Amino acid sequence: MSDPGIVHVIGAGLAGLAAAVRLTEAGRRVAIYEQAPQAGGRCRSFHDAALGRLMDNGNHMVLSGNRALLDYARRTGGSDALEELRPAAFPFLDLRNGASWTLVPGGLWLFDPTRRVPGSRPVDYLAALRCLTAGREHSVADRLSPNGALFEPLWRPLAVSALNGPVERVSARLFGAVLRETLLRGEAACRPVLAPHGLSAAFVDPATARLRAVGAAVHLGARVDALTFEEDRVTGFSAGGDSVTLGPRDSVILAAPAWVAERLVPGLVVPPPGPAIVNLHIRLDRPVRLPGGLPFVGLVGGIAEWLFVRDGLLSVTVSDADALADLPAEEIAARLWVEIARHLTATQRLGEPIPPFRVVKERRATPDQSSESVSRRPATRTRWINLTLAGDWTETGLPATLEAAVRSGNRAADATLSNGNNPIRRSGLFTAFTSFRHRPIWTDGGAVPARPGPEGQSKKRG
Ligand SMILES: Cc1cc2nc3c(=O)[nH]c(=O)nc-3n(C[C@H](O)[C@H](O)[C@H](O)COP(=O)(O)OP(=O)(O)OC[C@H]3O[C@@H](n4cnc5c(N)ncnc54)[C@H](O)[C@@H]3O)c2cc1C
Repeated sequence: MSDPGIVHVIGAGLAGLAAAVRLTEAGRRVAIYEQAPQAGGRCRSFHDAALGRLMDNGNHMVLSGNRALLDYARRTGGSDALEELRPAAFPFLDLRNGASWTLVPGGLWLFDPTRRVPGSRPVDYLAALRCLTAGREHSVADRLSPNGALFEPLWRPLAVSALNGPVERVSARLFGAVLRETLLRGEAACRPVLAPHGLSAAFVDPATARLRAVGAAVHLGARVDALTFEEDRVTGFSAGGDSVTLGPRDSVILAAPAWVAERLVPGLVVPPPGPAIVNLHIRLDRPVRLPGGLPFVGLVGGIAEWLFVRDGLLSVTVSDADALADLPAEEIAARLWVEIARHLTATQRLGEPIPPFRVVKERRATPDQSSESVSRRPATRTRWINLTLAGDWTETGLPATLEAAVRSGNRAADATLSNGNNPIRRSGLFTAFTSFRHRPIWTDGGAVPARPGPEGQSKKRG
């Protein structure tokens, strides 16, 4: 068989890594170019020397319904570093009055008041189905009444953290996709999946090790500055100061963030950047028990939105946080600490100085996810026959998440593989008939079979 050429993947976030993994599994030669000194992009761990802790750039909520992500972790060997909490349960705490409750989805949970938000009725949950039938133009607030019993204690915090934007702006359709992929698929799709040794240990390092082991070239610190185009093809690019010339069968998957892709590809329409996400990481020298007894708790009624605890680190997350991110780190830490300290059992008391901390401000944490911006998401294929796009900003039908990034990478890999097998497309005739935006139907990685386990235990994913 003739050599199908090299696939050059630009960007080693989860979209680029997933594409590269899928291509190497299909026997293709791959080279990755990543501008940063480490892979992972917006999903990465780093060692903080001042605090003496390994920390993530931000807490990431992964659920067992994230099928493509967990399938990717299983195929790369990263699932050994994941822990699934069973049964699915989501503790919440009201920061104003200390009230706490636990949402326990699954089975006939809607008919059991102890598994719902206090004071809510089953019909209040069914109101969320209106997001499944939302039009392109609808925001979450357009479809879910702000006067509804669950708006403040549940829908607002969930939508803000899933879509990183205010409910008055973010797309109801994307929120509907979250519900469809998780709550509506039952308990087995709602289990929180934690990465107790950090995000990189689960989603990044095993993938890069696997890629290197099968001969892929992983170039770190190699920023791609410009692509060159001739007629309907990409013919080369510069990476880390070196120029790369593409052979006639070589192709490119551009898996950099939207604002970089927009700069590299003429005429590309992308969603604008969305708000910051701020994380406060606090070093713990004593164990802390969170309300609800799990390693995380959702927070309502304050600035802080989620609290996670692991490995001597307490981490607070705030989404849609542009205003907060403009403040100095000390002020951010002080504001969040005042909110949470009095709810931490016994070990830390309000009034004590805050323990050593690190604030991580991720500006442009996701693309903007308003309805208008979502309509600017491009398809996987471009008008250049050997260039495909991947990233959480491409058209996946999902919020900009790890799941979306991996699915987009899978799609870009599949499109590249099918190009190689399609002589009409390779000849250029294909583009003459497909200059419109087309949305092919794709298949993604299958579900990870859930392993049976005793109730209340956490299981390593395998
Ligand atoms: C703080 C925070 C919290 C989040 N929480 C969650 C969560 O709870 N659950 C969830 O599912 N998702 C969450 N997300 C979103 C998730 O992290 C992203 O959707 C996902 O990581 C995007 O992956 P990606 O590969 O599309 O993009 P990226 O991770 O941005 O990868 C793009 C890569 O391209 C590289 N690059 C850029 N320019 C160039 C260039 N010129 N040349 C070469 N390389 C280049 C970048 O360095 C980067 O490594 C969160 C994100 C943040 C920031």
